[in-house]
Amino acid sequence: MDFEELYQQVILDHSRRPRNFGELPDADVNIEADNPMCGDEIALHLKFGADDKIEGVTFTGSGCSICVASASMMTQKLKKKSREESSALMHTFHDMLTAEQETEPPAVLGDLALLKGVRKFPLRVKCATLAWHALEQALQTKQGAAASDPGI
Ligand code: ZN
Repeated sequence: MDFEELYQQVILDHSRRPRNFGELPDADVNIEADNPMCGDEIALHLKFGADDKIEGVTFTGSGCSICVASASMMTQKLKKKSREESSALMHTFHDMLTAEQETEPPAVLGDLALLKGVRKFPLRVKCATLAWHALEQALQTKQGAAASDPGI
């Protein structure tokens, strides 16, 4: 199987059966993001644990296959990650799609590396990074803002 075939199979699979798709009733943060150029509209739902690591993450909305597949794969990567780790992953992913020099994607990206072909299509880069922009905003929310209890 060559890269293009693999790419298409994985993307299609995620876009048809997105993982972690649905509401997150006890979410701490809900961020909406849209990409009018394509019509992608998603919302990211995040719950942080007592250790401020990502306890739960889901997304809702609709978008093109690149957008949904990227969001689906992203949510699979975020569980139990700290804000710093999530942010680092986001930058790694973003670099893969926007860095001037094309480089071999780091192993940490896993299946997300299959989206690297998108870098040739600037309009689709916006689709692939939409969920990540929502993540960026979510990570900037005040630490422990929702259920913080200063009790020891
Ligand atoms: Zn799109």
